[in-house]
Parts: sequence; structure tokens; C-alpha cells
Amino acid sequence: MRQQFVAGNWKMHGSLASNAALLAEVLAGVGTARCEVAICVPYPYLSQVQQLLQTSQVALGAQDCSVHQSGAHTGEVSVSMLQDFGCRYVIVGHSERRADHHESDVLVAAKAERALEAGMTPIVCVGETLAERESGLTRAVVLRQLLAVTHLLREQTSRIVVAYEPVWAIGTGRTATPEQAQEVHAVLREHLRTVSEAAAGVRILYGGSVKPDNAAVLFSQADIDGGLIGGASLKAADFLAIAAATR
Ligand code: PGA
Repeated sequence: MRQQFVAGNWKMHGSLASNAALLAEVLAGVGTARCEVAICVPYPYLSQVQQLLQTSQVALGAQDCSVHQSGAHTGEVSVSMLQDFGCRYVIVGHSERRADHHESDVLVAAKAERALEAGMTPIVCVGETLAERESGLTRAVVLRQLLAVTHLLREQTSRIVVAYEPVWAIGTGRTATPEQAQEVHAVLREHLRTVSEAAAGVRILYGGSVKPDNAAVLFSQADIDGGLIGGASLKAADFLAIAAATR
């Protein structure tokens, strides 16, 4: 039985003051959530949020990590640094990084491996663009992205979390229908099953304009194990309602 999981991705939002206010509200309401909950915050706020989450059930995560362990890599942040701040999760391969920073499938896979080596759980994002979907390439694209990861990690694949995030649904208000999402999740799970039975049990989150009013029907799909939540994670009431919509 896979425990459902809701992870907030704050992206490049926040300030010391607004983070404290948002988390106070989230922590006041999260006690009743059945699912696992995590919040992935910008690097400069890891220390602040680590302290605020200390006595709570909410896990801390980062939004990216370096593929390098240490050294002359100006601006990069290593997995051991993230570990120093108590990160349990790190998002890798978000489509915004693939697009804005030209991250390749191979680089994303290597970052996932680094995270595992440091004892963290990578949340590996995959997803097709609108042009790819309209050309009938959805299955090929998400399998190519996931295959790079499973090929490198092999049996360690069972330790990751996958997030299916159709690029056309991110921040657009245009959610994949539950059927569209489930179809892709089933494809991903089928591939994971070819790796191992344990890998078939990996949690696959859906991300892309998840809101309180569409969360429950998405999370009720057989292969959807929760969500990676961008915009709605910045409003405590919405984020809590989404966590409450898990099964
Ligand atoms: P969104 O973002 O919920 O704002 O669409 C999701 C994500 O990019 O992780």
C-alpha cells in the first residue's frame, strides 16, 4: 500500500516574513492529514524552514541539487549541504530547470543518484510539452526521461519518488484530466515494474495546476499517489485542502 504524498514546491517565492506566516497556518492545520507532507523551499530559506518544521510531521525538501560533490562550481549547492539542513527530499529535473538551464535526462539521472547517495529521496520530474503531446509523443518523452534514471539507478529506483508534470499544465490553470494523468502514470508504473517489483511500488505524484477543487478526483486514480503542488502551496488553506483530498 503506497502512502499518498503531497509536496509543496514554492519555486522562487517567499521571504522570511511571508514564509513564517504561511508555515504557521500550514502547521496549525496539517495535523489531521493522512498523507505524508513535504515542502520544497528556495535554498536561502532552508535554515529558517528547518527550524520552523522541527517539531512537525512536515518534511523539508530542496528544489534542485548539484551533480558535483564539492569544489570549484560557483553558485552550485551540493547534496551534503542540503543534508546539513535536514532535507529529506530534493526535486530533480523540474521542467523549469530542464527548460531554463538546459538540464538533460542524463544530468537529471545523475542528480537523482547523488541525492540517494546522500540519503535523500529525489523527486524526479518528467513530463511532455504541449507540442510533444499534440504530436503523439507523450509516452515516448516520459519513458525516455524515466529510462535515463532507471538505467542509472537500477534496483535503487525503488528509493525514488516520480512526479509526472505535463509542462502545459504547470502554472497555466490547465490541469490534465484525471484520465489523461492516470494514462501516463500507468505507463510510468509499467516501466517501473520492468525494473523490479519494488520499483513498481514507487510513488508517482501528479503535478500541474492541482487545486482544492480537482485534487480529490486526481488522487483517486489508481496510479496517482499524491501531488507536487506549485501555486497552491503558497496559500495555506489551498495546500491543506489538497492534503486533505488524499485517500
Ligand atoms: P503548479 O506547479 O501547481 O503551479 O502548476 C507545479 C510544479 O511546477 O511543480
